[in-house]
Amino acid sequence: MSVFDHPEFDHHRQVVYGSDEASGLRAIIAIHDTYRGPALGGLRIYPYASEDEALTDVLRLSRGMTYKSALADLPLGGGKAVIIADPRRDKSPEMLRAMGRLVDSLGGHYITAEDSGSSEADMRVIAETTDHVGGLGHGGVSGDPSPFTAHGVFCALRSAVRHGLDRDDLTGLRVAVQGVGHVGAHLARQLHAAGARLVLTDVDRDALIRLGEELGAETVVPDAIVDADVDVFAPCAMGAALTPEVVDRLRARVVCGAANNQLARPEVADRLLARGILYTPDYVANAGGVIEIAWQRRGDYRREDVMSHIEGIGRTLDEIFARAAREGRSPAPVADDLARERFQPSA
Ligand code: NAD
Repeated sequence: MSVFDHPEFDHHRQVVYGSDEASGLRAIIAIHDTYRGPALGGLRIYPYASEDEALTDVLRLSRGMTYKSALADLPLGGGKAVIIADPRRDKSPEMLRAMGRLVDSLGGHYITAEDSGSSEADMRVIAETTDHVGGLGHGGVSGDPSPFTAHGVFCALRSAVRHGLDRDDLTGLRVAVQGVGHVGAHLARQLHAAGARLVLTDVDRDALIRLGEELGAETVVPDAIVDADVDVFAPCAMGAALTPEVVDRLRARVVCGAANNQLARPEVADRLLARGILYTPDYVANAGGVIEIAWQRRGDYRREDVMSHIEGIGRTLDEIFARAAREGRSPAPVADDLARERFQPSA
């Protein structure tokens, strides 16, 4: 399929294909928008079944980064890169260096970072051939963005609970966390420390039982989490967790989690609204990691400043929830409108 006619094409500034015969690299970089600054977005390495599947992913994800950075108040645009390869079998230092050269050829218009299939160690190899890399860690601190992402989700959840449940105190708040991986586990610990009562699930039974015991939390099998009798549902596993069927089963009044692309389809936002469930737009809630990566690129990194920037996620959501309530709309399209006002000010 051609790029310009592709259903996910949204006037992207640039779509660049790159290959390297020696290492087997086949990659696509998409730069969606650079109005606010260079396009930052992770590098996903995945064995896509077809080139079209890879193009679909990179077009959609790069657009999402524009919205995320705009609402996180970052001087960045949106971009993303994909390599068509199995990260466990095909990834090699040569391939990553070739990827670095491709990134470098864009002269800083695109800045790469970790994403699924790529790690902080991979970013160090890419950094051998380009300076345009984020997420390398800072001052001996690991480049793992997940504690920062979790802190942002925690701030988002506080805002959502204020607006959706009219309460400030998290003591006794019942929260179901779907997926206790990097972000979900940090979030669960932070909620536990704030006095929340947790119901946890994960397909990784060992990790689930360990965290359940550590926090004295209830644990359930993955399918049961949707029916848990809780105030908040926090999707922190895979995308598309919110299908129409799931929304109809939810007992929570608030949804707020870390997962990307939580809505299986855009119309699910209206179904949540119709059921009186307050939905927290995922890309606003989970921007803590990209905020931290952006600070790593500045010369004046201070953890306090990073944390206070991340806490701004709560204020942005206060604005989105208030506007959504005024207009009787779901917070999802309201967030999109607000983002567009920030990267297309004349629109
Ligand atoms: P992760 O892989 O460490 O954790 C995901 C967890 O979900 C794993 O423990 C996995 O076993 C579990 N899981 C998978 N399928 C499940 C299912 N059907 N039911 C229950 N559990 C299931 O990933 P992560 O880094 O914690 O990211 C979680 C989500 O947040 C992803 O959607 C990711 O795209 C998004 N996100 C992460 C970051 C970050 O900083 N890591 C930033 C922004 C968005």
